[in-house]
Amino acid sequence: TNITIAIDGFSSTGKSTVAKLLAKALGYIYVDSGAMYRAVTFYAMQHNFIEENYLFEEALVKSLDDIFISFKHNEELGFSEVFLNNVNIEKEIRTLEVSNFVSTIAAIPEVRRKLVIQQQDMGKAKGVVMDGRDIGTVVFPYAELKIFMTASAETRAQRRFQELIDRGDEVHFEEVLDNVIKRDYIDSTREDSPLIQAEDAVLFNNSNFSIEEQFEKVLNLAKS
Ligand code: C5P
Repeated sequence: TNITIAIDGFSSTGKSTVAKLLAKALGYIYVDSGAMYRAVTFYAMQHNFIEENYLFEEALVKSLDDIFISFKHNEELGFSEVFLNNVNIEKEIRTLEVSNFVSTIAAIPEVRRKLVIQQQDMGKAKGVVMDGRDIGTVVFPYAELKIFMTASAETRAQRRFQELIDRGDEVHFEEVLDNVIKRDYIDSTREDSPLIQAEDAVLFNNSNFSIEEQFEKVLNLAKS
């Protein structure tokens, strides 16, 4: 029988890597909910709703109906890519610039309401693995399996730093570390759906485990 799997936790803990492997092994759909918040952030940047660190929140909220987010499976990559109004923005949303603003955008209640509805709709598919910050608490409180991932800020920043370097971005470790710490702070302290571990979630502290080891453990839980 197919179940719903919610993977939440702090930034750059390897949630999406484990979630993708899990979805593949189980033949489930994988949904990257963070990509949706990043897509809204990218839209805000494109429409000059963000200028020199100032966010024109009201203007963004008024435009929310014009934002259409979708996912399309890329056979070659083996996972889904995110589209904003039918344009593939998978690469554009992974920049440090987007990362630096996404938590502010994700704290806006109207933004969350819109995306949570869409996420719950996608959850109606049979067999879903979704990763994010509020999947086990808000989006799918009745998920059969909930995982909460954490690791030290340094371990996480190192992961994200390597990803950015690999894609050719010019970044410094310190600014990536700052971003990871800042995002976790904003995500954990916002009023609407803060990042917290669901009571029935299994905690994974992966400072000491490889992604493969984590994947094996989660897969065993999913099968049990
Ligand atoms: O998962 P990722 O790091 O790409 O998420 C980017 C940001 O989107 C998070 O730092 C958080 O602010 C927001 N987010 C959220 N709720 C989710 C997923 C992501 O608030 N379910």
